[in-house]
Amino acid sequence: MIPNINRRIVLAQRPQGRPTPADFRLEEVACPQHPGPGELLLETLWLSLDPYMRGRMSEGPSYAEPVALGETMCGGTVCRVLASRADGFEVGDRVLAMTGWQTHAVAPANAVRRLDPDDPHPSWALGVLGMPGLTAYVGLLDIGQPQAGETLVVAAATGPVGATVGQIARLKGCRVVGIAGGLEKCALAVDELGFDVCLDHHQDDLYAQLKAATPDGIDVYFENVGGHVLEAVIPRLNTHARVPVCGVVAWYNLTAPPPGPNQLAALMRSVLVNRVTLQGFIIGEHLHRQREFHTDMRAWLAEGRIHYREDVVVGLAAAPGAFMGLLRGDNLGKLVVKVAD
Ligand code: NDP
Repeated sequence: MIPNINRRIVLAQRPQGRPTPADFRLEEVACPQHPGPGELLLETLWLSLDPYMRGRMSEGPSYAEPVALGETMCGGTVCRVLASRADGFEVGDRVLAMTGWQTHAVAPANAVRRLDPDDPHPSWALGVLGMPGLTAYVGLLDIGQPQAGETLVVAAATGPVGATVGQIARLKGCRVVGIAGGLEKCALAVDELGFDVCLDHHQDDLYAQLKAATPDGIDVYFENVGGHVLEAVIPRLNTHARVPVCGVVAWYNLTAPPPGPNQLAALMRSVLVNRVTLQGFIIGEHLHRQREFHTDMRAWLAEGRIHYREDVVVGLAAAPGAFMGLLRGDNLGKLVVKVAD
């Protein structure tokens, strides 16, 4: 049945520093009833919450346009087709879409991907089998180029990107050192994900811990966070170390340069002296790797060689609070919102 009301969360104002509830507004608007030619009317089942959304809330130059004030917050979704005017799509089909923080939307059929109707875990298309999983796969294998016997360090170690990076690196024969916020996350990284060690970055002595955990230095540092973790990593980088720069979530809420001392000179000296490869990447430019990624990841999951955990919140209205928590590190696993059954 097609409802009359679409509930959506819009960007009410641009955050100054950390987002607050006042930056979001829940609205009820008329639900579109009839898709146009080549379009689908979709009902959101699952909404993905991801750190990149913080960047879309701000103005300023970036690799993607910001969300406009008053517009629906952007985001990946798993949806059910309620009405179709596109060849090859039937009512009831499940699709992967980018319809954002709302219960219903019309989308062009060529902007969605049909999902296997028998897949027992449709929400995984937003995580380990979707954008975060592909990010880990491409960033690690194509840029990080891990070799057996090398040491890899990754922070945000229990999130969807970090957890996948660490587990693939273990499959490739690396020693894997995770960094995470708190003892519960560190225990999960070792006991459930199979990391060799995981360090709590909330402890004062992170550098000393990292030095002890990386006696042979660091060959691959998969950069997810920046901040004080990066500062601890710089002195441990080996000759010809590789640093895929995936994200710097510790700095996403900055309104001024971080407090000193400034580590830029130490970083650039290490890059030069150690001939470090430091390479940023945006996953949208690597979609040609999807097919191989899906084949490998489905096999690893089926064989129990990759473990995946979701942190599920229920109801669209919970999205702002959960997103604010994501930027604080409250999530344990991939954060998704269950919008409808
Ligand atoms: P997560 O679910 O892991 O969430 C972010 C995590 O970052 C938090 O849970 C927290 O974990 C950690 N964190 C937050 N603040 C700090 C801090 N000050 N210092 C250290 N850690 C912090 O996110 P994802 O796995 O989805 O994403 C990981 C990174 O990858 C992000 O930077 C994201 O922007 C980036 N990314 C980049 C893509 C690209 O195309 N380049 C695509 C997808 C993601 P903890 O409590 O363990 O510290």
